[in-house]
Amino acid sequence: MKCPFCGQLESKVTDSRAGTAGDVIRRRRECETCARRFTTYERVEEVVPLVVKKDGRREAFERQKALSGLRRACDKRAVPLARIEQIVDAIERELIDSGEKEVPSEKVGERVMRHLREVDPVAYVRFASVYRQFKDIDELRSEIDQLSSRRSEGAPLSAQDPSAAAASEGVKNGEGAQP
Ligand SMILES: [Zn+2]
Repeated sequence: MKCPFCGQLESKVTDSRAGTAGDVIRRRRECETCARRFTTYERVEEVVPLVVKKDGRREAFERQKALSGLRRACDKRAVPLARIEQIVDAIERELIDSGEKEVPSEKVGERVMRHLREVDPVAYVRFASVYRQFKDIDELRSEIDQLSSRRSEGAPLSAQDPSAAAASEGVKNGEGAQP
């Protein structure tokens, strides 16, 4: 470790302690040449696997890129930014925990879709249609069918149309009003 005062490389450790979270180690060092003291911090480097693109290029997983893709998909949807950040955190964590050195970009996209599907169906379909580049409308339709059968107990995609809900409400009231 290079002394910040005289540039020599030899120093001895006089004290060493773990940070509160245990992920950082702080060491007091004393330069063997000029005897001045300085502190170094050691941190375990977490390895996020490289993303292998379709054309074979490798690049680092970029949080910012994942965030902006998700934000685009969630545009004008009731998804808080904090929730989007949680998804990115979860994916990054999953990638680290996988222990892989490389991961195909499709697998990253699938992870995003898996999370997004639980959060917002419209954002999910938007993301999936960009990501999977559906070849035709049938492919998109079958994706939406799958999605609505998964959520059969909850609100179908059409529930975002308030007039549909109002109409069924009207029918119910009409029935009840009959003598
Ligand atoms: Zn020194």
